[in-house]
Amino acid sequence: MERIYHHSSYIKEFTALVTGCREGRDGRWEIILDRTAFFPEGGGQPCDTGTLGEAHILDVQETGGEIIHYGDRPLTEGSQVRGQICWQRRFENMQGHSGEHILTGCIHRRFGYDNVGFHMGSEEITIDMNGILTPEELDEMELEANAVICENLPIHVLTPTAEELEKMEYRSKKKLEGEVWIAEIPGVDVCACCGTHVARTGEVGLIKVIGMIRYKGGVRISFLCGRQAVLHCQKRQKQVAAVSAALAARQDEITEAVDRLKEENGRLEGEISRLRTAEAEAKAAAFPEGDGLLAVFEEMDPVQLRKYCTMLYEGRKGSIVLACTRKGEGYQYVLGSAFHNMGNLAKKMNSCLNGRGGGSALMAQGTFQAEENEIRSAFCRCAGEELK
Ligand SMILES: [Zn+2]
Repeated sequence: MERIYHHSSYIKEFTALVTGCREGRDGRWEIILDRTAFFPEGGGQPCDTGTLGEAHILDVQETGGEIIHYGDRPLTEGSQVRGQICWQRRFENMQGHSGEHILTGCIHRRFGYDNVGFHMGSEEITIDMNGILTPEELDEMELEANAVICENLPIHVLTPTAEELEKMEYRSKKKLEGEVWIAEIPGVDVCACCGTHVARTGEVGLIKVIGMIRYKGGVRISFLCGRQAVLHCQKRQKQVAAVSAALAARQDEITEAVDRLKEENGRLEGEISRLRTAEAEAKAAAFPEGDGLLAVFEEMDPVQLRKYCTMLYEGRKGSIVLACTRKGEGYQYVLGSAFHNMGNLAKKMNSCLNGRGGGSALMAQGTFQAEENEIRSAFCRCAGEELK
């Protein structure tokens, strides 16, 4: 079986003989040809899509040395068929794959790190390098990779003999069976590779790094090449423009504007918290002094509710205070007392009111799945026993 993409990655149309066609799963047909320009998924590069005669080819896989084209309809065995690959997708894959060799080659040349993982996804291309780069070093490598694009160097795809291969210095050197393909960018990179490449580095157009994370003792670098890189920059530019408009700040000053916004937000949160505490204090002070049971129901956040409960029981030493606020179908509660064990009381009330939670002697908190009147009467009953 002839792999046309190996002689030239620029062949978009070809004719071939259908040597096999069988029904596969999910209504797809598995088509085998005597020669193909369709690149099967492999080595980190996605497969080509396109058409074979009337059939749309949605996926191409290689299994056991056989290239299977997954089509949406059957083709007649023994017939000649015209194949056409989706060129935009293929060319973008070529830009991405060649770009990967350029960037990896630059990092390998400078730092000696190896690429131990490569994936071309629909959103980004990732490479896993087995060493650490700082963000500044990555910026430098990005510029260097783009300088290699400007040099417009040839990308040679070689098929050396076993003896030649033995003497060659290249990345991904491991025992490879059968014919080995080597992609060489003079002075930049030599690597065993089965993918498709552009003829010269200039065709990659642009290499844009979009992220880096620590990964397995090294780093995972995300980037885009060529048309995909430009599309990404367009999208980011629109986002920056939108953020800039929303903040009423110049585009190159949005970071400072967001910092100011966060600072202002923090100040306002502090102010809200101060006002809420003052409000709770005022409410607590409005309750008449005295011992006994006190149940209050208020709209409050959990932190305020705890503070409120504390103010109430500290103000009336012999009392037991229950403070509740709505939470979903039930109530969030806080129980507080200076002299009675709230952990025990919470246990009793939880069992009456389908509740959860607990706490210390001074304070307990949790939730009740019950109505206000049920909570009030359970409190009178259970807390009343505590006071006796
Ligand atoms: Zn490769």
